[in-house]
Amino acid sequence: MENNFYSDDQLYPWMKTNFNRLLLRAHNNKLPNAFLIEGKSGLGKIALARQFAKKLLCTGSALAGPACDTCNHCHWFNATTHPDFTQINPAEKSHVIKVDQIRYLNDRIALKSHGEKYKIVIIAPAESMNINAANSLLKSLEEPPGDTLFLLVSHDAGLLPITVRSRCQRFIVHSPNKSDSITWLKSQSVADPERYLAMANDSPVTALDFSTRNMLDLYKSIIKDLEFVFEQQGSVISIAEKWHGYDLQPVLTWMGQWIRESIKAQLLGTKSPQKSPLFNIKMDLPLMFRAYTQTIQASHLLKTAVNKQMILESLLFTWNGQLQESNGLGTR
Ligand SMILES: [Zn+2]
Repeated sequence: MENNFYSDDQLYPWMKTNFNRLLLRAHNNKLPNAFLIEGKSGLGKIALARQFAKKLLCTGSALAGPACDTCNHCHWFNATTHPDFTQINPAEKSHVIKVDQIRYLNDRIALKSHGEKYKIVIIAPAESMNINAANSLLKSLEEPPGDTLFLLVSHDAGLLPITVRSRCQRFIVHSPNKSDSITWLKSQSVADPERYLAMANDSPVTALDFSTRNMLDLYKSIIKDLEFVFEQQGSVISIAEKWHGYDLQPVLTWMGQWIRESIKAQLLGTKSPQKSPLFNIKMDLPLMFRAYTQTIQASHLLKTAVNKQMILESLLFTWNGQLQESNGLGTR
């Protein structure tokens, strides 16, 4: 769901406290070799990491506040030519950070720093590294050359190998409070900010993205399709075919959220999990867990998968499994 339509070159207003927390660590000479900046997608963590990196490299600004934007270092940073700064993202359209990218990085940080300050590396999202890439990073994380600071940004740190996680200091970023998010969304001219914020699971940047892409219609049509699936009114195969053309990452994130809300409600004995538009679905708990796990798996599989149709069908068959079971068709 992470996207590049918004600028990573601004510090979102709710990130100021996090920025100052990081800055304080730098002023007190308490920076680790590597931070793992964790939090859900759509909070502006990459922007936070970039602004912090820029500030550390800047030679023109006062201790507090953002980088000066006028010194040479800021110019180089803005022109993406700063010799002491490297940002690694998945190669376009691949969703994966490959080992060659990390080898390039390792060679780059082995060089002497050009300024008197840090060499800074951002890897985002860090969980996009494939296993070879993660292994190749380990040695640099363990013994970083010179004053290298790694900023690993992760939307789902549980997906990172423990060997990588254990070499980083965690820096957790929380969602801003709702009223701050709503105020910001209004300032970005989002109509119906409450609805979009709920669709985005309280991530304001994602909410803005959804609104810009007019995703409310898609959201409503997914709910309708799933109701059909539950009620066995629609054919799973034709719904899977229809979904082919959709941007499936947000769709699967919504499905994950809804089923999680339903599980929570059932466990807590709440009658209707109002946060889920599918609160009236009736599934037994083991099936809900299965549907949840499969939804998360599908979200990862579909990033690289070739056979979308099969993954979607199998997912939707699980989602209507309860009815299959009660009809004696069985799903096991
Ligand atoms: Zn500067």
